[in-house]
Amino acid sequence: MRLFAIIAALACATAASAQDYPARPINIIVPAAAGGPTDAISRITAQAMGKILGQQITIENAGGAGGTIGTGRVVRADPDGYTLLIYHVGLSTAATLYRKLAYDTKSAFAAIGLVTEAPMTIIGRPGLPPDTLKELVAYLKGAGATTTLANAGIGSASHLCGMLLTSQLQLTLTTVPYRGTGPVMNDLIGKQVDMTCDQATNTTGPILSKQVKAYAITTKSRLNSLPDLPTADEAGLKGFELAVWHGVFAPRGTPPAVVQKLSAALTGALKDPDLVKRFREISTEPMPADKATPAAAQQKLASEIDRWAPIIKAAGEYAD
Ligand code: ASP
Repeated sequence: MRLFAIIAALACATAASAQDYPARPINIIVPAAAGGPTDAISRITAQAMGKILGQQITIENAGGAGGTIGTGRVVRADPDGYTLLIYHVGLSTAATLYRKLAYDTKSAFAAIGLVTEAPMTIIGRPGLPPDTLKELVAYLKGAGATTTLANAGIGSASHLCGMLLTSQLQLTLTTVPYRGTGPVMNDLIGKQVDMTCDQATNTTGPILSKQVKAYAITTKSRLNSLPDLPTADEAGLKGFELAVWHGVFAPRGTPPAVVQKLSAALTGALKDPDLVKRFREISTEPMPADKATPAAAQQKLASEIDRWAPIIKAAGEYAD
């Protein structure tokens, strides 16, 4: 009888806390450095969700080891809706690249929803000799064989994009890992590294202000925000296409009522005119409402893990 009373009391407390949720600020861990594209997407999304939830949402950057450090912190956090993750395709590649991960990515989360799918751009430092993608390819195969290619660590989106590029061109470049592509952009503009491949959400501004050289966009068609930039396919890299999905995730075990509230806040946030405007300014679009759901995000995560696993295993190159 006593046990029953305790269980009933606990159930009531959970229901009450889900009803009151969120009663205090929410912390979103972004496993990439401040000032980069995932950071930008996360801050815009957090602000719009916070407005709807009537609570402040803070962003904590925890980059490193291809996002697995920050992701691990969310996996281990209390599943109470007060610690969340915003990350991208790197979640699914890390699941295979890091063989010693302390969590099973497919089952570690209660997904909240997808946020956006951002195109990537192939860019170079100011003064890099080539002006076009065609010239860049010739340069990398000749005088530019020592060119450095920066990324946000093994499994990051920039790493994936660089791998696709070098494998399609059959070249080896020296890669330089960072904790996120915010710092990469500073070093690219400062000419400490030569090239990177990064989400347009980080590169649109520097491309438009000519602080970096832009060679191609990785979408099927050109972007309205960067109309002069050819697609990789148009510029000679046949079939080269890559978009970076981002999603919001909570630790597994988060109460369904909290997941529901967060998901409704995300769906509402993605319709917020201010969010839509700010996303468009950085060359991306909010996910349509049917993809901003827990089921769609869970499905995307699982299918992306299955998609990348055989490719990574065939390459046989792991992060650990
Ligand atoms: N763009 C980065 C990546 O390559 C991450 C970031 O800093 O947002 O995954």
